[in-house]
Amino acid sequence: MTPSPGTTLDRLASWFRGREDDDSIAPAPDRQASHRIRYEQIGAFLDRHGLEPSTVNFDFAGRFLDGADSRLMQVARAVLDKRGSFTDHDVERIMERRAAEDTAGKLEALSRELEGKVAECLAAVGDATDSTSAYSTALDAAATQMASDPGEAYRRLLEVTLEVAETTRKIGGRLERTCKDTRKLRADLERAKRAAEEDELTGLPNRRGFMARVESALARPETRPLTLALCDIDDFKTINDRHGHHTGDRVLRFVAQQLQAALGRHVVVGRHGGEEFVCLFETSTVEEAADLLDMCRQRLRDRALRDQTSGLSIGRISFSAGVAAITSDAAPALRLADELLYAAKHAGKDRVVTVTTAETSAAA
Ligand code: GH3
Ligand code: MG
Ligand code: MG
Repeated sequence: MTPSPGTTLDRLASWFRGREDDDSIAPAPDRQASHRIRYEQIGAFLDRHGLEPSTVNFDFAGRFLDGADSRLMQVARAVLDKRGSFTDHDVERIMERRAAEDTAGKLEALSRELEGKVAECLAAVGDATDSTSAYSTALDAAATQMASDPGEAYRRLLEVTLEVAETTRKIGGRLERTCKDTRKLRADLERAKRAAEEDELTGLPNRRGFMARVESALARPETRPLTLALCDIDDFKTINDRHGHHTGDRVLRFVAQQLQAALGRHVVVGRHGGEEFVCLFETSTVEEAADLLDMCRQRLRDRALRDQTSGLSIGRISFSAGVAAITSDAAPALRLADELLYAAKHAGKDRVVTVTTAETSAAA
């Protein structure tokens, strides 16, 4: 079946061709037929649920149709039972949750392995202690025997010394190996912890990483006043629709870099999910943070972007944002920022809204 232009299947096929080109993989002819059936099943699934042919949706559809991931199936079926179909948002949440579970599982496995190595180290140290105390007992016995039978005492002493030297050499080797494994495991664990808090596409902290930074800021009184902003790219779906998801991804990376560069190193920028970003401003009032973010919005919007691959103009990118103060807990600030972001969208997008500006425009 040749997909007609503009259908989900068509976009899916072009997206997948892009992936194969990227990875220089050409499926063997006998595998092409089964691949084609798979694309068609996935395309039909995405069409049935009205899902975008995005990387995450494609991955989800493949895994859902495969049915082998029981945890994913359980969460997905619960959504399906409740609502009858999946939205892009549902899929994003399901996949995020699944990834978090995977990460938690990997971290737990690494921690258990590390605990095992520490136990091995302790066992080796215990064996070394036992061997030392056995040597000390043998020395005492030899000293007592020295007066009555010096020859036998000397022979026994030599034998025990050789035994201890051999045991110590073996324990030393064991300890060296275990210490090396432990060092590697600790490095793996550090890497896994960092990866668990980082968004793969943009390299920014993900939601979990961002919340960890908020918690750490909340624990330091000198960070007050603390302010949070939720930014959402305007009409991002149009970019995906016109230029494809690869370009959409590049735009997301570009916006992430621009936000971080314009806001500076003292502002934590995280990816909240999809085309949404979160920012944490330390020692900034809501007004100061909103002014800084607004300057960033204007700077971004003043640039006309071009798709490097196709040469086509992408045009100007803007975002809308809601800015709120964090007092003792991030959750209410996030909720308020989300409401203000909604108000910004409702008022025509491409703007930064705070409680004060929202009230002013409501009164006007
Ligand atoms: P609005 O101005 O109201 O925010 O409109 P919008 O088009 O930006 O918002 P909408 O929620 O309708 O669409 C967001 C789109 O972002 C849909 C989804 O496929 C896309 N998206 C989410 N995550 C990614 C991603 O990682 N890569 C790409 N390329 N697209 C993504
Ligand atoms: Mg959005
Ligand atoms: Mg948007």
